[in-house]
Order: sequence, then structure tokens, then C-alpha cells
Amino acid sequence: MPRFIDTSPPGQCIFCRLIAGEIPAAMVYEDAQTLAFMDIGQVNPGHVLVASRRHAATLLDLTPDEAAAAMRTAHRVAQAVQAAFDPPGLTLLQANGREGDQTVFHFHLHVVPRHADDGIALSWPRKDPAREVLQGYAAQLRQALARLS
Ligand SMILES: [Zn+2]
Repeated sequence: MPRFIDTSPPGQCIFCRLIAGEIPAAMVYEDAQTLAFMDIGQVNPGHVLVASRRHAATLLDLTPDEAAAAMRTAHRVAQAVQAAFDPPGLTLLQANGREGDQTVFHFHLHVVPRHADDGIALSWPRKDPAREVLQGYAAQLRQALARLS
């Protein structure tokens, strides 16, 4: 994960400044709700960031419409990455909060072309809980979803 942490106040964050044209960017795509531009770190050639046009710190700060627009743009950009760079794999990564490995606190997701042995690693420590525990988690989430609607 990138170690750069942007601690700017909301509205003055690095992506807001980029969107305002105050910072140069290698722009790929723009629409009313989203922008796509090259990640300056380029983990692999063709690595693109999709960001919300409005400042929203995390996924949970987006409207459902903005979240849908971000995934529409990511889907479109992924197709372009495939056509232009032809990677054998592709990973979408979206991080929220410091503990979630977010480093710029303006919603974005990564479209990352992948190659064998490209050095990208995500540890995935499985816990494999008992079936009753899974059922309990599902019940908690169904209750939470019911309260949302
Ligand atoms: Zn911002």
C-alpha cells in the first residue's frame, strides 16, 4: 500500500486541488460525478484512480448515485485498461479509513492492471468461523439493512 498520507482539510485535499486544476494530472476520463486519472505511483503501467468529483472522504460518504457512478466509471476504465495494456489480470481496490489503508481521504478506487509476480500482495488471514457464527453475522446485517430502508 502507498505510504503517502494526505492530511489536508476537506475541500483542500490533494484530489480536490487536482479536480480544481491546481495540481496537474494525467486525466483519462471525466463525467458529471467522477474523474479518472493516472495514479502517480503506477504500481503497474496503466494504474488509474477513479475519484468522486464532490469531496467525500469515504465510500460511506457517497450518495448511492455517486457510488454507482464510481463503479460505472471503474468498469469503463477497466475495459480501456484491458484494451490498451492487455494485462492478464486486473484488481479493483477501494480503501476506507486509516485502518482500511486509505491514504488520501477523498473517495477513490484503484483500477490496477495485474501481472504474475508483480509484487502486489494482500494478506487474507481466514478465520473460518463456525456456521452458527456466520448465521449470527448475517442476522446482524439483515437487521442493519432493515433499519436503513
Ligand atoms: Zn477532496
